[in-house]
Amino acid sequence: MLGLLLSGTPLAAPRASAAASPVCLSGALAFDHRDAEAGTAKPWVTSPARNANWELWGQTSPGSASRLLASGLTGVDGGTFNACYQASGPLPELHMKFLSASTQTWRVIPDRRSATPYSFTTASLTDVATSRNLGTVKVPSPIQGAWNVEDTLNLLYWKRSNPDSGCWTSHQANGACDQLTVVWDPGASDGGYWDYGNTNYVILAGDMPDSHHLVLHEAGHWLQWQLYNHWFPRVTNCNPHYINRSSSTTCAWTEGFADAVAAYVLGDYRFVYPDGTSYSFANGRSTPGWDAGDTVQGRVGSSLLDLWAANGPDGGAWSRTIRLMTYNASTDFREYFLTDRPTASPPLSTTGTARSIITSHTIDY
Ligand SMILES: [Zn+2]
Repeated sequence: MLGLLLSGTPLAAPRASAAASPVCLSGALAFDHRDAEAGTAKPWVTSPARNANWELWGQTSPGSASRLLASGLTGVDGGTFNACYQASGPLPELHMKFLSASTQTWRVIPDRRSATPYSFTTASLTDVATSRNLGTVKVPSPIQGAWNVEDTLNLLYWKRSNPDSGCWTSHQANGACDQLTVVWDPGASDGGYWDYGNTNYVILAGDMPDSHHLVLHEAGHWLQWQLYNHWFPRVTNCNPHYINRSSSTTCAWTEGFADAVAAYVLGDYRFVYPDGTSYSFANGRSTPGWDAGDTVQGRVGSSLLDLWAANGPDGGAWSRTIRLMTYNASTDFREYFLTDRPTASPPLSTTGTARSIITSHTIDY
């Protein structure tokens, strides 16, 4: 977490000879995107890019090569930045570079083989002797989806319930965090999955970043694998899979968990598709069109959300389940509910309200 609090770390020590104040470029990073969560009209929205990596580049003497002068993260309060360099005189050239990554904790790259995130630079300023305010810096439209993903992943990071380190889970310590990588290719059609067993990257294509539920669902698969310390259930009969239809216990568990991650993080009870259509997880014993039991991902996902709900039996949050998952991996919902919840300390309930919740979603053990 420490690294995310810093906003502007000069890489070079101030020169003792110069009494001058530092030269700073300030402003706020923002991106436009179509908001699928707002419905099928998908209105255009401008949002700040928070916790995004920035770099200050420039020439410190005439004719010298442009070099990295400072780096940091945009602010959580509106994507603000204030990039400073202690110069002894006017700087011949100065510009900002922005990257679709957040420290080394997550990043968005253009294709599976990329070593670097998306990036762009601001126009060169010349002969800069005093600080400048760049105002709102907009991400160029062809690549703005990368910062939409970058910013959305903040929401999952902030709710990751890991008090032990700044990493995604307690399995890693500060300085050695696993990095969540999202591949987003705006021109591709293949995407919308987590590439388990290969790159282990989240793969997105086209307008998929418009749906924050989709982004967080796929990141949720990666998070479950992380919570299980690089283990994942062997999933069968899962292609295709539907919220309201029977698949398998392993498919319903892993897909239901990912659905629940997205809804929990966004504070709702549905899945939203990139075209702005949505599907409610509300279901009971007689809901038309829904299959019954723990082979149905929507039954599992809604059960989890109700267990984690503010008025639910798990203390009003998912944190106790998150912690349980770090030391007791479950192959399916039955194992999670019947076998593993009692191993939490203190035990998570399997009776009373907890049992009523799953029964109301047709899961009868
Ligand atoms: Zn999925």
